[in-house]
Amino acid sequence: MGTPRNYQTQGIILKQTKLGEFDKIVTIYTPEFGKLRAVAKGACRPKSKLGGNVEPLTHSLMLLAKGRNLDIVTQSQTINGFLALKSDLWRMACGLYVLELIDSFTVEGGENRPLFDLLLDILHQLSEPDSNETALRYFELHLLHYLGYRPQLRRCVSCDTPLKPVVNFFSPGKGGLLCPHCHSEENRRYEQIETISTRPSFPLSVEALKVLRLWQSCDYATSRRVKVKPELSQELEQVLCEYIRYIVQRELKSLTWLKELRKESVSL
Ligand SMILES: [Zn+2]
Repeated sequence: MGTPRNYQTQGIILKQTKLGEFDKIVTIYTPEFGKLRAVAKGACRPKSKLGGNVEPLTHSLMLLAKGRNLDIVTQSQTINGFLALKSDLWRMACGLYVLELIDSFTVEGGENRPLFDLLLDILHQLSEPDSNETALRYFELHLLHYLGYRPQLRRCVSCDTPLKPVVNFFSPGKGGLLCPHCHSEENRRYEQIETISTRPSFPLSVEALKVLRLWQSCDYATSRRVKVKPELSQELEQVLCEYIRYIVQRELKSLTWLKELRKESVSL
């Protein structure tokens, strides 16, 4: 038995693109089917009942019909439009970054319920007035885990010895930390290859390591209780963003926007 001709699913709209004059293709992240793309017919018409329910950053309950190529959204009802999140530029930028991460890391199909729950949860967290960038880092770390890229933070990824509380080195290519000894070995090898344009690994402080380890194993509420100073926050951002960039092999558009917004708010 395949999927029935009509089926219902909840989902979070990741993005939309116009199709012809009045229709849209929407990319939806669902708990049962993972990522799927579907056509929302007439969604661009001014009086469309679908319209607002299939905008990005919306959690909707949808009825879909099997199509020959893409399925068709026949009805959609908003469960949560995340209006608090959309009414604040910085918060919205964070939300769009989260959506772009999910979209970049996943292919169509393939159920990943924990990832759906993580996505829904972060959108709720970001809607809270006192949310901050800690939420994004926590999200990134757990996203990596649910997609099979959990960074190794306990043992050296090269020699497998338990890491000591000293400055170790994060290697995006190896997906975790190198002990100082293996790092200097690696450096020696890279010095012989002069064309290398990116740093193969970079230092990670003891403090940053402690925070990352804690976040890897605690829930979001606990992670928020950790006081992170601006300098440490920057370091955590760097390590996770470099690792993510290494995996997706490009700079995320929404991240660039987020950084620009931050610069503007600092210069005000
Ligand atoms: Zn080592």
